[in-house]
Amino acid sequence: MSRIVAIGECMVEMASKDADTYRMGFAGDTMNTAWYLRRLLDQADTVEYFTAVGTDALSDRMVTFLQDAGLETDHILRRPDVSVGLYTIQLQEGERSFSYWRGQSAARSLAQDERALISVLTHADMAYFSGITLAILPENDRNTLLQVLADFRKKGAKVIFDPNLRPKLWEDEETMRRVVMEAASVSDMVLPSHEDEALWFGDADPAATAARYADHGSSWVIVKNGAGQILAWENGNLSLHDPVAVSEVIDTTAAGDSFNAGFIASWITGASVAGAIQSGAGLAAQVVQSRGALVNLR
Ligand code: ADP
Repeated sequence: MSRIVAIGECMVEMASKDADTYRMGFAGDTMNTAWYLRRLLDQADTVEYFTAVGTDALSDRMVTFLQDAGLETDHILRRPDVSVGLYTIQLQEGERSFSYWRGQSAARSLAQDERALISVLTHADMAYFSGITLAILPENDRNTLLQVLADFRKKGAKVIFDPNLRPKLWEDEETMRRVVMEAASVSDMVLPSHEDEALWFGDADPAATAARYADHGSSWVIVKNGAGQILAWENGNLSLHDPVAVSEVIDTTAAGDSFNAGFIASWITGASVAGAIQSGAGLAAQVVQSRGALVNLR
């Protein structure tokens, strides 16, 4: 029986259907992973989502959505003066373009209160968070979150981190690089995507990405690489694994988020790293062959 807490921001998604109509949904990197984890894990396991939302009707709808997905929401913080972040997806000459309203979102205050973080992690075995979780926080709150996670890990719990590098969300690239490496140093497992890492850290290949995170103390680094081979670094052992072949890629949204869920769900049940990578790659292959972040699993 496992208890996993995913920490981050869920947003309202408004996807344009035609010129006048939008379809409302909910998405966000850590929430996507929690959503898939809930589908993959045993009912005896608990997946909790931790964030901050407002007290308005839209925030209520988000929490109801999370609960309907089977996620525990008991520790979600409520902020009376702000609401949840929102983004729109519009089709522009066949290409999807995104606009965001998340600068004032309630989730930015999720790590304001150290006691709330300690409380949500009290009975957990595993915490999952990302570079986006950190990017949206004020500097003091980043430090609070990382300290709470470091203490959580000292008690024997596992911390899993996806760097999910999004420089636009950070005050500057240098801060992003510094804080992401600090996050790796409090994490047992790091799940980066090589393309982003090469772009923002200058890694020559996936092995360089793995070595950089492993040097900061992570025991497991699993480097995703789109349609390329997945590289695993497991306590000093390097191995390469094929992704699951896909006939037609429809939409790569949440490929990495779903891979992480497939990997973690399998790893929790005692699978080898190779077996867990196959589960992650299998799930991500399904997700890239459908539209949207949250795909009904076959
Ligand atoms: P992110 O979505 O974080 O950028 P990647 O693009 O590296 O992550 O993809 C994550 C995982 O999704 C890959 O490791 C792979 O398993 C799967 N995946 C992504 N694109 C493809 C593809 N074209 N064919 C098969 N698998 C893919």
